Amino acid sequence: MALTGLDIFKQLPKKNCKECGAATCMAFAMALAAAKTSLDLCPYVSEEAKENLGAASAPPIRLVTVGSGEHALALGDETVIFRHDKTFFHPTGLAISVNDTLPLDQLAAKIGKINDLKVERVGQQLSVNLIAVIDASHDPANYKTFVAQVAEKTALPLILVSDNPAAFEAALPGVAVKKPLIYAAAADNYQAMAELAKTHNCPLAVKGKNLADTAELVEKIAPLYKELVIDTGSRSTSQVLADQTQIRRLAVKKKFRPFGYPTITFTAPEDPREEVIQASVYVAKFAGIIVMKADEKSQILPLLAWRQNVFTDPQKPIAVEAKIYEIGAVTPASPVYVCTNFALTYFAVEGEVAASKIPGYILPVDTDGTSVLTSWASGKFSADSIADFLESSGIKSKIDHTTCVIPGHTAVLSGKLKEKSGWNVLVGPQEAAGIPTFAKARFA
Ligand code: SF4
Repeated sequence: MALTGLDIFKQLPKKNCKECGAATCMAFAMALAAAKTSLDLCPYVSEEAKENLGAASAPPIRLVTVGSGEHALALGDETVIFRHDKTFFHPTGLAISVNDTLPLDQLAAKIGKINDLKVERVGQQLSVNLIAVIDASHDPANYKTFVAQVAEKTALPLILVSDNPAAFEAALPGVAVKKPLIYAAAADNYQAMAELAKTHNCPLAVKGKNLADTAELVEKIAPLYKELVIDTGSRSTSQVLADQTQIRRLAVKKKFRPFGYPTITFTAPEDPREEVIQASVYVAKFAGIIVMKADEKSQILPLLAWRQNVFTDPQKPIAVEAKIYEIGAVTPASPVYVCTNFALTYFAVEGEVAASKIPGYILPVDTDGTSVLTSWASGKFSADSIADFLESSGIKSKIDHTTCVIPGHTAVLSGKLKEKSGWNVLVGPQEAAGIPTFAKARFA
C-alpha cells in the first residue's frame, strides 16, 4: 500500500530548510508521495527513514534496460499518466520480428533492411530499437545458430521469443553479453525462467493470460527476479489499450507493485497498414516495447515520427542552437534567411533552402525554441532581437552584402528592422515551402 504524504512527512527531519527545492518538509512529502521528486534531494533524512521510505520513493514503474552499449534500450521509469503532467521519459521500443525458419541465405538482407529503418527528423536520429528472434522452428539447435547469426549482423538489442526453455538454454550463452530480453516466463515455467534470467543477467518478460493472471504471476516472480517486463497476453487493439491503461493507472496512482514494470505487446494484423495503426495506438498508450512484423520504411518511418511527437517533452520546445548555419556551398554573395530557433521552423527552412539549390545562410534567432508567430507575439522575435543577432552572430564577416530575408508572417517588422540594423530587409514567403520559388526569383 502506498504511503500518504502525511506518512512520509512524519519521517522527514522537519527543518523546513528548503534545500530539497520544496518550500517546506510537508510540501516535499506531498511531492514524494506523488512521485514528483526524489528522497535523495533531502540531505538530512536518516538512514532509518530512507529504509522505511524506500518503496515510497522508488519510481512507480521500474527502470529496466534491454541490450548493452550504445544501443541499450531503457524502458519504464515513468511517473505520470498524461505527458502534459510532466513528460514521458523513455520512448516505446520498436522491435521487428524475424522467424528462425528464414533461410540463412536471406538473413543478411533481412537484418540489413531492419538496421536501415532509421531517419533524421528535426535534428534527431530516429530508428527501430530491437530485433525479436522468434523460435518458429521449435528446434533448439537451429534457434541457437540463427540467434548467433542475427547477433553477428546487428548492433540492435535482441528479444529471444520461445515457449521452450531448451531453446533459451541453447541460444542464451552465446548472446547473454548483449543482455537480450528473454520472452517469456509463464505460469508453468516461471521458476526455471527466473533462474535462467538470473544466471545470464538478462531482463525477463512475464506473460499472463489476462490482467489479473499477469498480476498474480508477477507477484510470484518478483521475489525471485526483478528485471521484468510484463505482457498481459492480449492481442486485440481494444483489450491491449484497456490493459495498458489499467497497468499505467494502477502503477502510477495506486503504486500497485505487480504492475510497476514496463510492458511489451505484439501487433496482430497481417495487413501492414492495420498493423502500423495498431502500433500507433500502443505508442500513445504506454507500451514499453511493441513487436511488429512490418519492415518497410513506408510503414515504419511514420511510426517513428509519431513516437517522436508523443515522447517530446511538452514543456520544452525542441530548439536548435542560435548560430550561423551554412546550407550548401555558400559564398559571400549567398542570401541570409532569418527565422526562429524552434526546431520545426528551422528544419523546415533548412529543407527548403536546400531544395532551392541556391546555397544560403540561415540565422535562427534565440526565441527559446518558440515558433515564428508565437515568438513574434511574445516579443522574442522582434526588430531588436533580430538586429542584435545580425550584429553578434558574425555573419557580416562572411558576406559581402547586407540583405536578409525575414518570414512573411512578420512582414510588419521589416521597417523597424531596417532602421535598427541598417540592413536591407526582404520579406520572404509566409510558409517555408515558398522558399524555392522566392529564392529563384530573387537570387538565381
Ligand atoms: Fe525538509 Fe529535508 Fe527539504 Fe530541508 S531538505 S525542507 S529538511 S525535506
